[in-house]
Amino acid sequence: MAKKFPPGRCTHCLNFFDKLTADHVFPKSWYPESTPENLEKWQIPACHRCNEEYGKIENDLLQRIGLCLDPIEISSLGITDKVLRSIKPEYATSKKDRLHRQKKREKLIRSLMPRNQVPQEAFFPGFGAPSDRNILGNFVVRVPKAGIKALAEKLVRGITFIVDNRFIEKSHFIDLIVADEKSAQDLIEIIRRFGDQYHKGPGIRIGRAVAQDNIDSAVFEIEIWRRFRFYATVEPRESS
Ligand SMILES: [Zn+2]
Repeated sequence: MAKKFPPGRCTHCLNFFDKLTADHVFPKSWYPESTPENLEKWQIPACHRCNEEYGKIENDLLQRIGLCLDPIEISSLGITDKVLRSIKPEYATSKKDRLHRQKKREKLIRSLMPRNQVPQEAFFPGFGAPSDRNILGNFVVRVPKAGIKALAEKLVRGITFIVDNRFIEKSHFIDLIVADEKSAQDLIEIIRRFGDQYHKGPGIRIGRAVAQDNIDSAVFEIEIWRRFRFYATVEPRESS
């Protein structure tokens, strides 16, 4: 059920609104079918505009990344199927819906590329190896970095609000770090030693460590579907 938030600030743009919507930190549709039914899905206050804008970005990412997942992996159970259904015109409930599905399908097809034309370093960490169970076969799908950056920013703001009941003010900025586990070793070690882990069912895991001398600075590890993993930092804008 959607939470009700009293008038206050939007977690994302930080402006004050009389009316706030309940924004899911992790989109509802991203939770795999293996998620326990009674799991509390984190919700945060957001203005209508931010909620809608992030909704579009998340949908686009889900479409693309969903196709690259293993359809029978328990941590992402049902995600690939959901994406496939959403682009099949035969599931349409109206003429408009049918057109919408066709458009989505065409857009996705346009972002496909033959695997052998993509250099290894262009793959998102964890997605470079071909798999028998990958429905894309010899194709790969382009994922916009700006979308992942926006997602990282949203999740970091959301998790900070949930855990600390705080906003990340304009004095700080959020940086996305795309790295494989080996390159991110130092960061992972800091989180493991000094941080906390949060699990949201089998599909979502977050690690977070906050700096001891400045609670606004933090490092994050975000892992979705055990596969889509990235890191983020929150730092002061001007280093003194
Ligand atoms: Zn907003």
